[in-house]
Amino acid sequence: MNYASTRNSALKVTSAHAIVKGLSDEGGLYVPTSIPQFTKDEILAFCDKSYVDRAYDVFSKFLTDFTPAELRHCVESAYNDKNFDTNNIAEISKLRNGRYILELWHGPTCAFKDMALQILPYLLTTSAKKEAGGKHIAILVATSGDTGKAALEGFKDVAGTSISVFYPEDGVSPMQKRQMTTQDGANVNVCAVKGNFDDCQNGVKAIFTDKNIESELLKNNILLSSANSINWGRLAPQIVYYVSVYAQLVKDEEIEYGEKINICVPTGNFGNILAAYYAKLMGIPVNKLICASNSNNVLTDFINTGVYDRNRKFYTTVSPSMDILISSNLERLLYHLSGENDALINDWFGKLKTDGRYEVSADVKAKIGELFYAGCCSDEETKAQIHSTFSEEHYLLDTHSAVAVKVYDDYRKKTGDETKTVIASTANPYKFGRAVYDAVCGGEQPDDEFELIAMLEKATDTKMPAPLAATKDKAVRFTRVVNSADMGRVVLDFLNK
Ligand SMILES: *Cc1c(COP(=O)(O)O)cnc(C)c1O
Repeated sequence: MNYASTRNSALKVTSAHAIVKGLSDEGGLYVPTSIPQFTKDEILAFCDKSYVDRAYDVFSKFLTDFTPAELRHCVESAYNDKNFDTNNIAEISKLRNGRYILELWHGPTCAFKDMALQILPYLLTTSAKKEAGGKHIAILVATSGDTGKAALEGFKDVAGTSISVFYPEDGVSPMQKRQMTTQDGANVNVCAVKGNFDDCQNGVKAIFTDKNIESELLKNNILLSSANSINWGRLAPQIVYYVSVYAQLVKDEEIEYGEKINICVPTGNFGNILAAYYAKLMGIPVNKLICASNSNNVLTDFINTGVYDRNRKFYTTVSPSMDILISSNLERLLYHLSGENDALINDWFGKLKTDGRYEVSADVKAKIGELFYAGCCSDEETKAQIHSTFSEEHYLLDTHSAVAVKVYDDYRKKTGDETKTVIASTANPYKFGRAVYDAVCGGEQPDDEFELIAMLEKATDTKMPAPLAATKDKAVRFTRVVNSADMGRVVLDFLNK
């Protein structure tokens, strides 16, 4: 199995190369040159396998340059009951009307990014042995909250790696800040930056392109890398849970083998829903892929009109991990749907860069319409959904998952399609406790985060997950605040220790 670039289809690299590099030199994303297929017998065999074994089978189709022993090491190091609060890794909760909530937040940071970031460090160190002479991998992350914490938990104390995370001083929630500044591990570094998320991201980009920093680090056999969501090593792990949930629903006799399901995903950077598309291409029987957005509904408009236009107002919403106007992983979908036409991709994404806008061909637009349905909802609708799902079904949704449930319910009403539907739940409600409390109870809220959480626990008869509760008594380890111009210094100080 080889990987090409969305902007150069002639390129052929191994999966290890794609994972170490992250992004191809000409700016394209790595994509598999063919999509492996599962037979009926293979899918049926998944029914009696554990999550680890299902993951192993999916990875062995895509990462053909990894040995069986290497793949075993990767999946077993990531998907175990030390890292996740359940051996099933992802749980399924059944709601009314054929809706199955796929809970992707049983990992150490209580958000779905753990599903990929728990395994990425192992995929990356294994790849670096093959591709980069076993250099020490120094990860840099700019984060607006969830990714930074998930990357810290994934990389902490993984041999051969270290990680530096930068977050905007006033741009993350109090819980997210606590989660990061109390992070343990000997190879981790966390630093606040004066400014917003863009300042952090620009600072990280500047470090990556700084030749002095690069040569100084290379002297010490250190290679900089990123844990960015466009890395193939983050996408491949997300395919696993869609294959796995199908097998599990067959095993649980909720569906019969061959019966199609819909998959609905609360979408930001288009990584999670793209993984569902790959699962469909691999032979998992999928009817519609339902793309759910909040008020930043650039994808809703794109899927419905074929015009991608980022020139619009940016909204700060109660589902902040979906507050995105450029959905990077969409490039992979368009590459596949355009018949791997790298010239078209260069044209469209060039226009996105210069004009903030592009329009796909009628043929690609039609294919998107066949595969996808798209919808969006406001913060008010999101909160109303949390409220009604809790009061009617006693199930507590987080703000992101509520967007997906709302958009799905609208879809079902509008189309009358009663196909059973898997709805991806991307965060535990306690991660976004204030908005969830407001939705369920309303009224005044205390300033103290843990006081608020105690109120939410009492009102809903649910429990805050252990990893969030644990931050309460942990000491703050990281207090440094810098200007974005000084981020390079922070990285060098940390790595030359
Ligand atoms: C990152 C994130 C999303 C968006 O996922 P994409 O793969 O970027 O589409 C949705 N919900 C939560 C809670 C997230 O952290």
